[in-house]
Amino acid sequence: RSTFYVPSLQELNPAQQEAARHTDGPCMVIAAAGSGKTAVLIARIQYLIESGVDPRSILACTFTRKATDEMRTRLVDVVGRDAAKQVTIGTMHAVAYRMLKSFLKDDWKVAADPTWLMDTVLSEPSNLNPHGVGPLYASSQEALTNVSRAKAEALMPEQVQDNTLAKVYAAYEALKAERHILDFDDMLLHVLRFFKTNSDFRDRWRRRWRYVLVDEFQDTNYSQWLFLLELVRNTRNLFVIGDDFQAIYGFRGSRPDLMFQFQKEFPDARKIVLDINYRSHDLILELAGRVIALNRGHQIEKRVHAAREVSEDTSTAEIITTKSDWGEAKFVAEEIARLHERYPRIPWSEYAILYRTNVQSRAYEEALAEQDIPYQVVGDKHFYENRDVKTLLDYLRVTIDHSDPATWIPLLNRPRRFIPKQVVDEVKAGGWEAVMAHPKCRSFRETVEELSRYENPAEALRWLVQTHPTVVRQQDDDEPVTWVDALIRSASRYKTVPEFLWYVDWVIEKSRQPKDDAVQLMTIHKSKGLEWWTVFVVDLVEGILPHRKSLSGPSLREETRLCYVAITRAKENLYLMAAQQYGGEPVELSRYLRVLQE
Ligand code: ATP
Ligand code: MG
Repeated sequence: RSTFYVPSLQELNPAQQEAARHTDGPCMVIAAAGSGKTAVLIARIQYLIESGVDPRSILACTFTRKATDEMRTRLVDVVGRDAAKQVTIGTMHAVAYRMLKSFLKDDWKVAADPTWLMDTVLSEPSNLNPHGVGPLYASSQEALTNVSRAKAEALMPEQVQDNTLAKVYAAYEALKAERHILDFDDMLLHVLRFFKTNSDFRDRWRRRWRYVLVDEFQDTNYSQWLFLLELVRNTRNLFVIGDDFQAIYGFRGSRPDLMFQFQKEFPDARKIVLDINYRSHDLILELAGRVIALNRGHQIEKRVHAAREVSEDTSTAEIITTKSDWGEAKFVAEEIARLHERYPRIPWSEYAILYRTNVQSRAYEEALAEQDIPYQVVGDKHFYENRDVKTLLDYLRVTIDHSDPATWIPLLNRPRRFIPKQVVDEVKAGGWEAVMAHPKCRSFRETVEELSRYENPAEALRWLVQTHPTVVRQQDDDEPVTWVDALIRSASRYKTVPEFLWYVDWVIEKSRQPKDDAVQLMTIHKSKGLEWWTVFVVDLVEGILPHRKSLSGPSLREETRLCYVAITRAKENLYLMAAQQYGGEPVELSRYLRVLQE
């Protein structure tokens, strides 16, 4: 359900009205967070439909699937279900896929996870594997990221400067073409190709959508830009909305400079600036303004005035530091419980906890579970579903209970112990006694026996990853907190292994309970475009935000914009949080907090 209040056309301020009532020709709306950009986009769809435009000829592009759902819900409120259903709303990738579907032959499929294709490319060439080029990248993931960046720039393999990349990219494309497979980025590129080569395709889709609207334009990449230009070639009815303060996908090839390119491509475009913020009160906007001012000289300066009054009673914008990371998590959960008691009519879903990377959810999940507060981790796998976390927990489990082979079968060859499949099948049938007896299982047995000597779960886990580093997948050394670190931190609060495992199962059970109203946990990236009554931005320390990979230049500026995005999600209460120690190690307060404390 939508928590957004949807202002009607009549309630909009004059600048918003001007944008919403814009009809034909190119138009760009530039405005800071919370100024009603998305509201204007919806009001413009309403206006077009009320002026007699066929809803089927309207295309609205959003940035995420969640934003698509949100926009559809808001649109139903203003134009009714029937008309709202006929408007095309979707991410550019989803729209491109839909365009392609009727033109591609049936035997083409989309690879949800192209890792195995890249694995083939990075293997040695052979008669069986003519597409192999050898291990030119450290990992398939790294190679795929680079290929994806090239595709975001609409570069073909032969146009890529870097020779290694060009070779890997070309082999990858050849393999996919042979197997009739598309990856995610191919959707847009194929559409661009069809536009060039297929006149039926061109005519059909240029005629279909007469009005194209784009939200979050600052995060468009070059391929998407070409896609938009092709779509509006005849009508020039391109309406884009953006805020360069919130460009946070540069690492994936987004190009905020396209906001300037838009003005060059369409010199006659109408340009509209919105400057009233309807989301947050001044205390919050003041903090947001000081953070984003760090990027001065690298952005389009925008001013905003808050429409919302600061209420002496309820409004907050605070910086809170605690001694330990667990103390921080506990503070957040207790504060939510306290606010909920004081304001029982505000639903749980009006509270959000935002963090820089997924792994950070763990402590907050546990603290919320302990307070019996319903929560939902948005978009990603639950912490305890991570493969490394599961493996380590299963090792602890076999030390106390080996009745279920499902727990220990996957561990036999993790790390690789060269136990043949036949033996695995044998002991699976024979149960734990068979494992105890089989000579090939000796090394596994020894690991479990040694592990059983530890009473303390954190010590047990530390011993396991130190003596058998390959039980877990190669960790990304650049990450400030790894999944393994996070698990050990959680374990360190318990004295015995059974106690810890009991607790883990309890948290997993809690997280699985269905709930229709829950505190929202997500990365800052996922929070884009959304808003909550109370927002906690957590773990604001150097190395996490800003991320330790991004401590200078353009990537540091992207971290600053992330911090701005996080702060501007809050309507009434904002808590900027940090601890002095993480996992017992002292850390430095984020530069963003230091700027705000000055
Ligand atoms: P972001 O940059 O974060 O995506 P935005 O510019 O898209 O923000 P919206 O989400 O459209 O901003 O609007 C922010 C809030 O202000 C929403 O709750 C919206 O309903 C409300 N709002 C926008 N315009 C008005 C208005 N004229 N009167 C009252 N409320 C408004
Ligand atoms: Mg928006």
